[in-house]
Amino acid sequence: MRLAPEVAAPAALVGLALGSFLNVIIHRVPIGETALTPRRSYCPHCRAPIRARDNVPLLSYVLLRGRCRDCDGAISVVYPAVEAATGALCVVAVSRFGVTLAALHAAVFGCFLLALAVTDVRTLRLPDRLTGVGVGAGLALAAAAGVLAGTPRPVAAAAVGAIVGVTVLGVVRAAGSAAMRREAMGLGDVKFLGMIGVYLADWRLVLLTVVLSAVVGSVMGLALRFAPARRVEIPYGPFLAVAAGISLVYGDALIDAYVRVILRG
Ligand SMILES: [Zn+2]
Repeated sequence: MRLAPEVAAPAALVGLALGSFLNVIIHRVPIGETALTPRRSYCPHCRAPIRARDNVPLLSYVLLRGRCRDCDGAISVVYPAVEAATGALCVVAVSRFGVTLAALHAAVFGCFLLALAVTDVRTLRLPDRLTGVGVGAGLALAAAAGVLAGTPRPVAAAAVGAIVGVTVLGVVRAAGSAAMRREAMGLGDVKFLGMIGVYLADWRLVLLTVVLSAVVGSVMGLALRFAPARRVEIPYGPFLAVAAGISLVYGDALIDAYVRVILRG
């Protein structure tokens, strides 16, 4: 990865603005609002509209010391965290892929992973509306790549990735639910891996995502056992999201290493 400041700085700014938009989606979609209505962002405590100068990503949160200017109510740390994370993922995307369609593809993918993971932590739901828009955007990007390359292969690979994702996690869910005699994971997780498959567009990376999500989930599950406050239901979406991000950036290298070490002794 190479980090040129003249590319990294604009990418970070675009990412911060995108993160601001993701916050709107994260907080509105679960309560049935859309990204565009109501027009203005408002304080969740006193419903006062947020002024434009108080709506600058990261900076406003710091200047307002995390409190609403009108009612002094605490602003969730989720807002600046999502903005910072989106800024970072846009920088990683251009450093890894350059200023290319692949970087846009990675950044859009990262945005949907982040929005869905945060929504799952907050609400224990992966809304179909969000996953569905993610699938649509992924297919559109695959179609654009196909037009540029003059071949339908990117779209076919995205479709195969989605089918593999839904099938694999559908089977895991059915087997897990039968073994545990209760729902092992939500249907939302199955659809989420379908969306992830559209972007990874490689059945090996989809399988790697499932394996890595189980590893990340087990480590987190063990850590939570020793935490004082035990949560009964742990959302699986964030583990899938982290695993998918690792698969996109390091997946090919991980699979090559696996093949070298395990299969060829
Ligand atoms: Zn307020």
